Amino acid sequence: MHFSIQELVAKGVPVELSGTFQVPEAVSSRRDIAAIGPLRFAATAQPLDTVVDVRGRLSTELEALCARCLQSVSMQLDIPFHEQFRKGEEGSESDADEIEVNVVDSDRVDLKPYVEETLFMNIPYAPLCKESCRGLCPECGQNLNERACGCAADRIDPRLAELKKFFES
Ligand SMILES: [Zn+2]
Ligand SMILES: [Zn+2]
Repeated sequence: MHFSIQELVAKGVPVELSGTFQVPEAVSSRRDIAAIGPLRFAATAQPLDTVVDVRGRLSTELEALCARCLQSVSMQLDIPFHEQFRKGEEGSESDADEIEVNVVDSDRVDLKPYVEETLFMNIPYAPLCKESCRGLCPECGQNLNERACGCAADRIDPRLAELKKFFES
């Protein structure tokens, strides 16, 4: 998905950009992601003086594995996207204080890497089926959301067990 900064700035009217991206391998191959749909992107590119302001959203559905109990969880991601672009020399200062302007050396901007970057930064790192998920018992593997197991009751930290032995001897 591309646009030309010069063209937008010359015309001075916003354009709608939308499309679908394949989710990058680095995300789709993650072990805690069972499935992820295509990435839908919709935004408005608005010329502001010499800067093009691109604001919109990206969305997708994904099926992840809960980081604690490994149950599959369906999620809907809806991520805001906001980037600004200006053509200029490398390292030239941007004076926008709210958002950093991406200074690009080519007039034609490909949004794909920016969309992917936004996805990377917003995809849950350790998804949970619910905030209060109790996870699996480390001893017997029982899903503790379903029922309690006997293990936890008399489990003693091995270091404490050593200490107990020491005092008993
Ligand atoms: Zn869980
Ligand atoms: Zn157990």
